[in-house]
Amino acid sequence: SDVGSQKDRVVTEEEWLEKWEMGNIGFHKEEGHPLLQKYLDVLLNGRNGLRIFFPLCGKAVEMKWLADMGHSVVGVEISEQAVKDFFSEHGLPYCEEPVPEISGAKMFQSTSGNISLYCCSIYDLSSLIVGKFDGIWDRGALVAVNPCDRQRYASLMISLVEKNSSYLLVTVSYDPNKHKGPPFYVPESEIKSLFG
Ligand code: SAH
Repeated sequence: SDVGSQKDRVVTEEEWLEKWEMGNIGFHKEEGHPLLQKYLDVLLNGRNGLRIFFPLCGKAVEMKWLADMGHSVVGVEISEQAVKDFFSEHGLPYCEEPVPEISGAKMFQSTSGNISLYCCSIYDLSSLIVGKFDGIWDRGALVAVNPCDRQRYASLMISLVEKNSSYLLVTVSYDPNKHKGPPFYVPESEIKSLFG
């Protein structure tokens, strides 16, 4: 029943901004994710210089890690504070510019050019704006999306990938009756129906 009751739950953009303001960001990890290290070969598949997308990126340290390996990283995050914290915490100089196609959106880019973070809602993006990607790292993104927006989110992700790309989705298996979201519980069957 708890699974069902999550369906109508919503975390608003304002609530996310407030979490960042209050420092209520227990989801952020200072250490690179062990599963990215473990499955890096799957993501790269022997290729160099990939374009890798981080949906709902927060200030994920893995963005720096992949950029340092020579890949080009694009992220999207609603909180400007998160984006600025990312660059300052890694000592990376950046510039910021408006995104002509999205009113109110800004793009923050490392001076070296290999990390571009869009500060806007993920639903404002399309492949016309950000292009397509060779890989996606989804940690804490699908599960943070409001259940009512899941289909839209998955369709957008599918529209952003090139053929032969890899989508790494970090999953946690748990009893949804014991842990109430958010993050939201996404049954494995739903992952299959969303992504095929
Ligand atoms: N992937 C990151 C953060 C996960 S928490 C990590 O691994 O640490 C989810 C993040 O999504 C939060 O930082 C929140 O501010 C952001 N967010 C929530 N809704 C969003 C939306 N519609 N568009 C862009 N970012 C969003």
